[in-house]
Amino acid sequence: MKKENILYLVIPCYNEEPVLSETTDRLTGKLDQMVKRKLISPKSKIMYVDDGSKDHTWSLIEKLHQKNHYVEGVKLAKNRGHQNALLAGLMTAKTRADVLISMDADLQDDIEVLDQFIEAYNVGAEIVYGVRSSRKKDTFFKRHTAQLFYKLMRRLGVDIVYNHADYRLMSRRAVDELEKYSEVNLFLRGIIPQIGLQTAVVKYERKARFAGESKYPLKKMLSFALEGILSFSVRPLRLITVFGSLISLASFIFLIYVIIGHFVSGNVAGWTTIIALVCFFGGFQIFCIGIIGEYIGKIYSETKRRPRYAIEKVLSNK
Ligand code: UDP
Ligand code: MG
Repeated sequence: MKKENILYLVIPCYNEEPVLSETTDRLTGKLDQMVKRKLISPKSKIMYVDDGSKDHTWSLIEKLHQKNHYVEGVKLAKNRGHQNALLAGLMTAKTRADVLISMDADLQDDIEVLDQFIEAYNVGAEIVYGVRSSRKKDTFFKRHTAQLFYKLMRRLGVDIVYNHADYRLMSRRAVDELEKYSEVNLFLRGIIPQIGLQTAVVKYERKARFAGESKYPLKKMLSFALEGILSFSVRPLRLITVFGSLISLASFIFLIYVIIGHFVSGNVAGWTTIIALVCFFGGFQIFCIGIIGEYIGKIYSETKRRPRYAIEKVLSNK
């Protein structure tokens, strides 16, 4: 008889007290059903990663761990952000799991497609991407900014799966490969397609958060998008060069025009023109330096090779 695979659901949680009990109930129901269908082993787990929450998320995880045999927990010593928390969970769970699925604590990602993830794995996929079939439930703003982001990433030459967030299955082998990427600026959606291996896609409808607030306000969303671009593409640097040479060419032509004007009509170049040019070039240069600075900032943090997270405690049944 074929051995059933141990599945670990890895779920980063930051101040998720209002949703965790409900999430655990729903996932327990789902896992029971999958165990009954013999899709996964009864040793499968839900691994919550407490990302340094300020509310009672961790004590709730401890409580859930005591009464529910599926629940395990990892507590990070400090808030390190969604991506680092997810990585900590994957690396902790990988020695005990055959397959790992990452998802959010608010169950916006439809858990009814979990069976399809496992089925795709069973026919050979090592990485299965959960892709949203539509963004109807998002606000107008989020929908449009997200679309713009994916398009921009593609244009900048970053290999990224359209409308896929962090709802994905990875085999233990894929997680082992992921471990070799030691970058500090983590943008998992950009790294994972670089691993290669056989992939598959599962489509689902993304729902609204059933309780609590989004932990991704506009500011975090923007910095996440910037992280993605600057960590995976050096095209902005090339654009500066192109843009800079076009401007230099334009100003050279303008210079010739000014010199001819000086001899022909004896005009002194106007105050307005000088000020306009000074402002324009001043601003433009600072903009360029800013972009270069962004990359230097990245090099700076990468060369430090600081650990990406610290685990304070692990709750496990083993
Ligand atoms: N999250 C985290 N650390 C953070 C911010 C968010 O672990 O610093 C988790 C959060 O608990 C949730 C997931 O990341 O499980 C996605 O966050 P959220 O649902 O708030 O984002 P949205 O769905 O609004 O983009
Ligand atoms: Mg959410």
